Amino acid sequence: KSEDDPAYWLQESDISEILVPRSPDSHKGSHGTIGIVTGCSDMAGAALMAAHGAVRCGAGKVFLRVPSQTAPYCIGRQPEIMVRGIGNGSFFIEKDAEYIVSECRSWSVLAMGPGMGKNRETKKFIQYLISHTECPVVLDADALNLLTGEQNFIRSFGNRIIMTPHLAEFSRLSGYSLGEIRKDIIYAAKRFAAAWHVNLVLKGAPTVIVSAKTGNAYVNPTGNSGMACGGMGDILTGMIAAMTAHETMPDICTAASVGVYLHGAAGDYCRNHVGQYGFTPMELADAIPKVISQLG
Ligand code: AMP
Ligand code: MG
Repeated sequence: KSEDDPAYWLQESDISEILVPRSPDSHKGSHGTIGIVTGCSDMAGAALMAAHGAVRCGAGKVFLRVPSQTAPYCIGRQPEIMVRGIGNGSFFIEKDAEYIVSECRSWSVLAMGPGMGKNRETKKFIQYLISHTECPVVLDADALNLLTGEQNFIRSFGNRIIMTPHLAEFSRLSGYSLGEIRKDIIYAAKRFAAAWHVNLVLKGAPTVIVSAKTGNAYVNPTGNSGMACGGMGDILTGMIAAMTAHETMPDICTAASVGVYLHGAAGDYCRNHVGQYGFTPMELADAIPKVISQLG
């Protein structure tokens, strides 16, 4: 139980040790190629926010792949994000996966889930991608809802998977009741990460991160209730994806911890400079560079 085996509280110095100044001769290829494959019908915002989270973490290149009917709502909204529509429909189907697999060969990481919808065809698409790629995979939101019950499937890939559920998504995915989770979130997070063999980011106040490899738990001290609004988690998905591809990142669990810490720190920056009520996920993302440059 967590009382006997306490979690480690992340500290600013843990993050600044990793996010050292970039090497002066680095180029966009040094800073990761982030593939964000998500969205459905009119859920363009979630996909764009995830991509923007990656951009603001210093990603070298960000590719956003959305179902073709979602693409018109994404293309040109943000010029640095390279958007392409996939397939013919308003959600991803298994047949669309082969093309993404070929693109993935040049990507550092794949992130899926925000605004992706809950169609059963999309579940097959996600499973095909997980089993036919080798890069780290960040799974959030609808990707998690679709993978409920797929513990055995996930276990065989878990070392390179990061799951980022909020409490309700976590309860659905794990089958643990909300009461059980709240009673001891560190224990619940560790138990799930061991059973599914994944890196887990259990989002909340506070967020708990567990390593698939070591089973160690980390608690995040940053963040505030100004972040309790739609879209905040979508930004985090892109941030964690970008961090997995960071030049000096030792492993993907550390990438998740750095992403979570910076996300909360950017939220704290917004609370202090904009005010606790009504700062937006995009404003939070825009604060990330300032927060990184002020790390002590
Ligand atoms: P989501 O529910 O997927 O949009 O994710 C919400 C994000 O905002 C997570 O990273 C949460 O940890 C964060 N968040 C939401 N409410 C709070 C809060 N009261 N205190 C700190 N962080 C929060
Ligand atoms: Mg979410």
